[in-house]
Amino acid sequence: MSVLNPGLAKEIQSYGTVDFSACYSCGNCTAICELSDENGFFPRNLIRYGMLGLKDKLLSSKEIWLCYGCGECSETCPREAEPGDYVAALRRYAIAHHEPTGLTKLMFRKPFAFVAITLVLALFLFFLLMTLKPDHEVARWIFDLLPFDAVHDLGLYIFIFLGIITALGLFKMLRGIRKHDTGKVKDRPAGVAKIWRATVKTVNEIITMNRYKECDRQDDAYWAPKPWFIKPWFVHWMIMMGFLGLLLATILDFIFKDPATDIWLPSRILGTVTGLMMMYGASLAIYYRLTKPTHFYTRSSLADWFFLVFIWLAGFTGFWLEAAVTFDADTVTNQVVFIIHTVISMELVLLLIFSKFAHAIYRPVALFLHYLQGPDPQA
Ligand code: SF4
Ligand code: SF4
Repeated sequence: MSVLNPGLAKEIQSYGTVDFSACYSCGNCTAICELSDENGFFPRNLIRYGMLGLKDKLLSSKEIWLCYGCGECSETCPREAEPGDYVAALRRYAIAHHEPTGLTKLMFRKPFAFVAITLVLALFLFFLLMTLKPDHEVARWIFDLLPFDAVHDLGLYIFIFLGIITALGLFKMLRGIRKHDTGKVKDRPAGVAKIWRATVKTVNEIITMNRYKECDRQDDAYWAPKPWFIKPWFVHWMIMMGFLGLLLATILDFIFKDPATDIWLPSRILGTVTGLMMMYGASLAIYYRLTKPTHFYTRSSLADWFFLVFIWLAGFTGFWLEAAVTFDADTVTNQVVFIIHTVISMELVLLLIFSKFAHAIYRPVALFLHYLQGPDPQA
């Protein structure tokens, strides 16, 4: 049975949406939303749950992760209840709820805490980076305070900590969905064939983002007549694939210890191509948030700006360094750019599970469960 929480509506609003109590359940948002074909009453049902204080029902919803935030529903709402913003706020609410340290809650709700945590982490990473130059006086000062082995192993401990946080978050999410779905879905375990089909569909959706594409195809959408390469789904796809490609290129560089001076190595080519993709996506996304071409872009949170500006800067400084390395220009300016690039890139990775970007972890799991519990093809 769901537990009632009378303060839930106000709490959700603090994650970045308007007062949605004006909603009178007309169903326009459900009619326009591509996801509602399969899910009946989405997103209208979630607004009802929020009004009624049904916290468990909201947190166990898979649909909040399936929504790409196209904003079509908000455009059609006659009551300005902003259902698109509401679902985005629910995602942030769920990310904060699943993350066990409470840091995410603080960062989403208190801009001051967000800025302070980002700056403190940047300072910490700066000191950590300086230990790469053991002869530098900052490094000597650090090694006076901490033994070399402790500093050396710190990175490993941080990633173990993040791994535990991520696993706990996923566990909480799955437990909520399981509780909600008990009795609703067939209890017999899924067969291998169904698991395989769900996996293929999930991977296909992650790679193609077809659902987002459908949103932009709607006849009455602002984006429908626009060329595909400036549409929001493509912008989102470029950012996502660019970011993942850069992560992969960095890992390959690390594993194979590629010499940084050879620009024709596969990892360098991958890094260059995906870096360009990420910058293209981030530049357009920033442009849309500045020019507000549709209603969806009228409200941008600090977290939205942080993410976009940081990935743009990570890309820009990355290309700067690529040029510096290619021309073997070891100047003080380039060393400063190296520090900025590394600090920003590390912040993006380390803050992933504490930011709205954590949906990249929860969404594939929700998609998989969604496909797993879908109807059998032969049914
Ligand atoms: S959120 Fe708006 S469009 Fe959706 S049911 Fe409520 S009033 Fe209608
Ligand atoms: S933002 Fe788009 S996908 Fe999300 S609920 Fe609204 S119409 Fe559906």
